[in-house]
Amino acid sequence: MPSIYIETFGCQMNEADSRYIAERALDAGYTVAHAAEDANVVVLNTCTVRDSAERRAYGRMNHFNALKQRDPSLRLVVTGCLAEQDRDRMQTLAPHVDAVFGTRELVRLGDQLAAWSPAFRPSSFDTRASRTAQDDKDGEMLRFAMGGTADGVTTEFSHLRAFVTVQRGCSYYCTFCIVPHVRGRFDHRPRREILAETAERVARGAREIVLVGQTVNAWHDASGADFGDLCRDVAALPGLERLTFISPHPKDFTEKIIEDLAAIPQLNPRIHLPLQSASDSLLRRMNRKYTLAAFDEKLRALRSRLPGCAITTDIIVGFPGETEEDFEATLAYVRTGVFANAFTFIYSPRRGTPAARFEQLGKDVVFARFERLVAAQNRITRSYHESKVGSIVRALIAGDSKKDANKLTAKTPDNVTIVAPKTPDCGADRPWLDIAVEHGHVWGCFGTIVGHASRYSDPVTACAPVVDLTALRLLPLRR
Ligand code: SF4
Repeated sequence: MPSIYIETFGCQMNEADSRYIAERALDAGYTVAHAAEDANVVVLNTCTVRDSAERRAYGRMNHFNALKQRDPSLRLVVTGCLAEQDRDRMQTLAPHVDAVFGTRELVRLGDQLAAWSPAFRPSSFDTRASRTAQDDKDGEMLRFAMGGTADGVTTEFSHLRAFVTVQRGCSYYCTFCIVPHVRGRFDHRPRREILAETAERVARGAREIVLVGQTVNAWHDASGADFGDLCRDVAALPGLERLTFISPHPKDFTEKIIEDLAAIPQLNPRIHLPLQSASDSLLRRMNRKYTLAAFDEKLRALRSRLPGCAITTDIIVGFPGETEEDFEATLAYVRTGVFANAFTFIYSPRRGTPAARFEQLGKDVVFARFERLVAAQNRITRSYHESKVGSIVRALIAGDSKKDANKLTAKTPDNVTIVAPKTPDCGADRPWLDIAVEHGHVWGCFGTIVGHASRYSDPVTACAPVVDLTALRLLPLRR
């Protein structure tokens, strides 16, 4: 049976695209491999939002060249934003890449996988079947050298949180952002397609639907329906338990959309509201289309209509022209504790964007500011997580903890990661875990599973006690 390995960089759009690629591959008879060296087709789903992501993608392409040397039948495919941006340059920098598919060519990529599939079947050729002991030894060395994390691998929990793409591209042209240049202008998906895919995901067991778009709340259709109407329609689908979305633009939260969201009982109590900077002059240079006062007004409107909702954000440090005063304005706003969590980034010039031509700041100044900002937000994030200690939260299983297979990772509706030791009866049939939170950290919380539920609104069923093998004792069951 042919197999495919997928590695994903970047945002939830790419994550959603990788899931689509994996599904098309499964339909075409592939299995999804956990390691590149076990695959017939390797797909690299790339990102260009920062220079480091771009360099890493080229690094991975070079790594995978070693696999092609060992097995020339292997196909290396590159997709995602770098595939759009560097389609021609890639032929020179990585001539061993077999195929490049842009972000709007995923259907074609799926068709290509189906076309390649018969060639990988054992009846045609199976280089793996005739491997020698030396080949296997080489393979082990490659396994060590390849690294990377497999995506698109289906676990018993993957279907529980489903990404549904509602919109691609962006027409806002923030001066730092590569997205409009590589993904194109707004392309809103028809409402009936979004509803049909959501209904199908729910029927297949999805407990949480994540509506995904580059500027998701800018979605609208020819009938005049906006994102609020879309969310209400999605929430009205039979069986939908939880709803969330990523990533909105502050300016597109109209009063009407906020009212619509407030009327949705299944809406998760977390809204991501990317600030980028709290300096009006910098916001203008970034072409963000709002002032700090306008942003703050939206934030307060969301808070008042969605009480208890956690607000998270993105912030860029070191944007060209950022003065100490600009930075202090951002730091002061963050210190007010408005954000439950923040994704903080050092500005990275992107080829072809206006800000790449602006005069850049010195690295030392930027790093020092970045550290101050991260320290300030980390204190707030930790205290947000610590505020859950002593309570029991309901969270959806995400999968095994990456650090310890004896523990599970789950996500609360306000998007906090919770890690807890597995209980013997953890399973996808009762994926909502009631977890007694014991510790709060910057990364999330740690606790003990005390019960399960099949649906979000179901009453809890107590779970079997945890066997703590390291301490060789029974942990008490907490209610
Ligand atoms: S709103 Fe700005 S940052 Fe967001 S995708 Fe569009 S151009 Fe990029």
